[in-house]
Amino acid sequence: MHRRLALWLFAILCIATPAAAQDKGHNKFSVVATFSILGDLVKNVAGERASVRTLVGPDGDAHVYAPSPGDAKTLTEAKVIFANGLGFEGWITRLVKASGTKAPVVITTRGIKLRRADGAHKHGDKHAHEDADPHAWQSIANVKTYIANMRDGLTQADPEGGAVYASNASAYLAKLDALEQEVRDAVGAIPAERRRIITTHDAFGYFNAAYGIDFVAPQGVSTESEASARDVARIITQIKRQKIPAVFLENVSDSRLIKRIADETGAKIGGTLYSDALTAESGPAPTYLDMMRHNIRTLSAALMS
Ligand code: ZN
Repeated sequence: MHRRLALWLFAILCIATPAAAQDKGHNKFSVVATFSILGDLVKNVAGERASVRTLVGPDGDAHVYAPSPGDAKTLTEAKVIFANGLGFEGWITRLVKASGTKAPVVITTRGIKLRRADGAHKHGDKHAHEDADPHAWQSIANVKTYIANMRDGLTQADPEGGAVYASNASAYLAKLDALEQEVRDAVGAIPAERRRIITTHDAFGYFNAAYGIDFVAPQGVSTESEASARDVARIITQIKRQKIPAVFLENVSDSRLIKRIADETGAKIGGTLYSDALTAESGPAPTYLDMMRHNIRTLSAALMS
């Protein structure tokens, strides 16, 4: 029985594979996302129907990315482009223009209630929207809006796939609901007076607003500007005064500053948080869901001990 099934499968594969492979290359709807987190989210909505390419890959820092001529070519091949907006990928508008692509650019943060970037490190730009903190994906509730914007953007560009995108989106929304509950439970288990940590750059403002862990960072909402000596001194004083238990590294930031702060204050290094980029497949945060779970586990381990 088993052998017959195997033979049958083999025959089907022999007939079907070459044609299917060809179809795949030709018919797949081509989608581009600006950075790894967005790429993973779009893949979940697009499913098998589209091929998703990402400009800034794993562990890459989109704040300071320098696009290549290959990126312009990638955009010309796309049917729709997904960006975070809010000045996160400051280079995207120029790249879209230079590439000559006809693909629409969907700003996936549209409709999200924005948090203003605080204080010292605002960009010099004149545009009011660039005063907003771009790291909206650090709140799972916001990611539900990203998913809805992706579903709508894909459907507009590829109406025939509408039902597929709607069903993929709702399946993923259920996973986000479960994740949100996990994060709330994990934060709830940390004693309130210990819910305060230091990270390199100010990427967790939405996380704090949603779940209540206070992140203090010497660098502003972009990794473009360096922390000033005054900001570092202010943070060292704050750690000592408030007895902040742990400091954290980030995959997209230079670790030397945090190591220095740990040395000078005696705060322990609690591990690495993933703020602006996923890891490669072999790392601890290859998807958005993995990233959020890794971050909350790392935070809990450092703050509960
Ligand atoms: Zn950032």
